[in-house]
Amino acid sequence: MTMTELYSTEEFERKYTYSGSDLGARWTKEKTLFRVWAPTAKSVKVNLYRSGNPGVEDRIAQIEMKSAVAGTWIAEAEGDQNGVYYTYTVELDEGIREACDPYAVTTGVNGRRAMVLDLDSTDPEGWAEDRNPNAGKRITDAVIYELHVRDLSVDENSGITNKGKFLGVIEEGTRTPEGVPTGLDHIKSMGITHLHLLPSYDYGSVDEAHPELPQFNWGYDPVNYNVPEGSYATDPYRGEVRVKEMKQMIQGLHRAGISVILDVVYNHVYDGKTFCFNQIVPEYFSRTHNGHYSNGSGCGNDTASERSMVHKYIVDSVKYWADEYHIDGFRFDLVGLIDVDTINELVDSVRAKHPDVIFYGEGWSMSTEMTKPDVAMATQHNACRTPNFAYFSDTLRDVLRGSVFDDWAYGYVAGAEGQEELVKKCFMGHPDWCPSPAQTVNYASCHDNMSLFDRLTKSRPDESFADRVRMNNLAAAVYLLAQGVPFMQAGEELLRSKPLPGGGFEHNSYASPDSVNSIKWGDLHKPEYAANADYYRGLIAFRKAHPTLRLTSEEAVREQIHAMEGLDANVVGFHLRGSADDPAAAIIVLYNPNKTPTTVQLPNGRWNICIADRTAGTEPLMSVEGGVSVAPISACVLTLAPVQKSAKKVEKEKLPLLLGAAAAVTAALGGAAALIKRLTKK
Ligand code: CA
Repeated sequence: MTMTELYSTEEFERKYTYSGSDLGARWTKEKTLFRVWAPTAKSVKVNLYRSGNPGVEDRIAQIEMKSAVAGTWIAEAEGDQNGVYYTYTVELDEGIREACDPYAVTTGVNGRRAMVLDLDSTDPEGWAEDRNPNAGKRITDAVIYELHVRDLSVDENSGITNKGKFLGVIEEGTRTPEGVPTGLDHIKSMGITHLHLLPSYDYGSVDEAHPELPQFNWGYDPVNYNVPEGSYATDPYRGEVRVKEMKQMIQGLHRAGISVILDVVYNHVYDGKTFCFNQIVPEYFSRTHNGHYSNGSGCGNDTASERSMVHKYIVDSVKYWADEYHIDGFRFDLVGLIDVDTINELVDSVRAKHPDVIFYGEGWSMSTEMTKPDVAMATQHNACRTPNFAYFSDTLRDVLRGSVFDDWAYGYVAGAEGQEELVKKCFMGHPDWCPSPAQTVNYASCHDNMSLFDRLTKSRPDESFADRVRMNNLAAAVYLLAQGVPFMQAGEELLRSKPLPGGGFEHNSYASPDSVNSIKWGDLHKPEYAANADYYRGLIAFRKAHPTLRLTSEEAVREQIHAMEGLDANVVGFHLRGSADDPAAAIIVLYNPNKTPTTVQLPNGRWNICIADRTAGTEPLMSVEGGVSVAPISACVLTLAPVQKSAKKVEKEKLPLLLGAAAAVTAALGGAAALIKRLTKK
């Protein structure tokens, strides 16, 4: 039996699973305690260094570690070691290796030497009072905005001082040269609840020692899981700075009413061979067979989450981010490579202390070489086995914009026919794989693949700019009003584009220059872009105003939402009975992807139009009875005031007609009665 086979046996796990919570360096003013798990080592030493720079010969001391329980080794260093850098030297059959601490809480430049840290000293003022501003809300109440730290601020028109840094995310009062709010002020104005940050732990592909070089990466290449990325700090050399500044960013976002989600990438590491855990316990962290690394991730290695100490490592790491950094949500990259037991345990242990933290990930089915038999993975198709974990709905994404595997294909909003049934399923929060609306993340674009607007331009070059904007808005109106968890890529509301210098669009900008990736704030004052952002604001506000759009169970959806029958081809409509806490007694949502207007008969009553043509919001634009005409390539949403409200009151609140001719109303249509019968619940 090879060592890597042995690692996954019950016997090995019984003997060498350490369950304590003191792995890493535990600082106190009097002394620092070290504990590292290295069950196959013959000896382990701690090296203390003055600086965090790899290769600088400034070792202060080397301390022999003692063998302790369950394959761990311990040592202590007397005195106040705060700010001292350290590594472990491990003697193995494979040779002598020096490695960073997998449980490091911070490091020097480029993550090679860990640093002993008095964590409390990095807390910004008021940190003890810092809370999730969306406490008490559920995952379907979230409106998620996906952002790369650097993309927000690097553009010359951002008006942000700390370009590319954590601190740039929370600068207030920033404006474009034309005076339009940017950065945090813009994000706040969108009304989103959760900011999802692309990987912000220490990753390997950007050289922190050379900030002057043109460098960019999404960051899906983990080096130190529990350490903030150094290139986002104002000083990557001093380990405490990145910790302090990331906490400042989180506090600033919380003060702005925005919860923070981290994109976490436990499924693979930057480099399987040199990853510190694999240096200390050879090939333990990754799925390997005779030195060959499983590569379901496509990144050179897959994490062996099924092994007890990897399982513990992932659970500990997620708990640490929730406890120490007050993180409110986690997005798991390629979670289909991680087993359901690890996912359920980390969800439960974080929620025991922080019940409002939300979890979701990419649940694609992957091919990976497991080290144990019969392990179930956290995929869409196993969604019922991870009930408190949601999955991205590629079903909705692809029906809206066309298959992800064909750039030329177009979807429902751009004129694809025969999509009605799939749109209905997704709107009701149950694509085939999904057992509950609380488990589907609905979206039309994220960092991967082309931006929504680029995809529309690529697949419908024959359409006018104005019509492509309408298609973009229609997509937003579907996923932002659908049952489930709405998610958008930052800048989608600004018709974000990633044009290539030679023409065409970038669909995988993971290492593209800032000129491709940055959010282009200079567009924001142009009327067509400003109007688009306003439309998104209106949709988000409408969703937040109506609990009926945010149901948490399939039963509630079945009970309250019914697809309307007898509509024109491609037109999809829903009648939603208002929840008890909804200001509307009922809501009607209509989608018309056709290039001609469509007329829809309404159930009895006076309906307020809140969303129509290119306008969206919570206030009625006008009220109608009998029927409504829906403009080409647009959504129309109407609400019915609760019965206790007198007709007189509604009349008084009626706003002046704001709609263009395209959304003109055809009142008093006949035949409404038959429709009402079908729609009204007995
Ligand atoms: Ca780094």
